[in-house]
Amino acid sequence: MCSTSWTRDGSEDIELEEIGDGNINDVFRVTSVKERSQSLVVKHGPAYIKCLGPEFPLSIVRLKVEYNALAAFQRICPGYSPCPYYFDVETNAVLMEDLRDHSIMRKELISGNINMETVKKIAYFLACVHRDTHVSKLSEAEFEKLQQDFQNEDMVSLTRQYIFTRPFDKTDPTNRCSEAVQKKLHLIYEDPGLLDSVWKMRNLFLEKKECLVHGDLHTGSVLVSNNSAKVFDNEFAYVGPAAFDLGLLIANYIFSYYRHMSTQENHDTHRKFSQKLIEACYLTVNTYLSVMTCTVGQRHEYLNNLLTETAGFAGCEIIRRIIGTAHVEDLEGIPYAEEDALEAGVRLLLGHDRIHTIDRLMVIALMLT
Ligand code: ADP
Ligand code: MG
Repeated sequence: MCSTSWTRDGSEDIELEEIGDGNINDVFRVTSVKERSQSLVVKHGPAYIKCLGPEFPLSIVRLKVEYNALAAFQRICPGYSPCPYYFDVETNAVLMEDLRDHSIMRKELISGNINMETVKKIAYFLACVHRDTHVSKLSEAEFEKLQQDFQNEDMVSLTRQYIFTRPFDKTDPTNRCSEAVQKKLHLIYEDPGLLDSVWKMRNLFLEKKECLVHGDLHTGSVLVSNNSAKVFDNEFAYVGPAAFDLGLLIANYIFSYYRHMSTQENHDTHRKFSQKLIEACYLTVNTYLSVMTCTVGQRHEYLNNLLTETAGFAGCEIIRRIIGTAHVEDLEGIPYAEEDALEAGVRLLLGHDRIHTIDRLMVIALMLT
């Protein structure tokens, strides 16, 4: 299925290029000098957060989890993620297919490019992974094994802190936001109802064991080219709620929506593009449900919960990307985009209990009439 014709005797002349952004791991492209079309990607994880240094330890288990998840993805939905070639225990490195002809989806969205076929593929991929690892589909022993293979405590703890805890603690020194957003912070810190909702979503994230989830599915975790979509960077994979992946993905389409709605020059072109992002949200949920609902029983209750939880997680992701430490390029520096998106996140969190359909989610997030 996944193979490479590389020799492993060390005699190959190779060229090494660092391609990672250097935050958590080392990511290199290795190219054969003799046969330049031959290349692979090596992802290596130090035992600490690379950009912060050794005083911030982080379990190296994450790279084994990344490899396990790539292998599971390839088995369940071949061709929708990079092929895993090898996991080297000694150096704690994953070797995988080099998708050098692809580009990061977030960058494409920022440039105003979207291909609905890739949007559909991401949702299809996600649904297949969730369906085939769903608690209702596996035996008890199989589900137990899945949880063991994807025990990823340190990464789950990072998400807990950076999505659900730190951004909602106004004294946390890692938070940052623009001056315009500062004027809106009372919407977060002075609303006990909102903080209760965040706490509820945090507990759901930690406690609901539903299926294998990617765990960090934003538009920077997808490589695209023409009709091809490849989901990668799955070191946060764990067994958790399906809606966590869906919520993050929808939130990231919403970021792009607000970017293009707020861009002043070539106003009409950007407006038109933002309408495509609404379409992308519908297509995502509808494609996802067309795969999932064939499998999961209690259709009505299942649907009700899925969209409620998706809205809640989307709300947390939107807010933390504007007032927490990790911001998104889609919104930064675009006047009004951050404030408008922040308010969308607040509406989703406060209203998530009453959201049971994608229609309702979009109406509340984007104030559509
Ligand atoms: P990290 O988790 O440390 O951020 P990523 O897995 O996100 O590392 O990889 C960092 C960057 O390296 C990506 O944004 C992408 O540009 C590039 N990259 C990673 N994996 C591949 C791949 N399989 N093919 C091509 N480029 C890749
Ligand atoms: Mg990563």
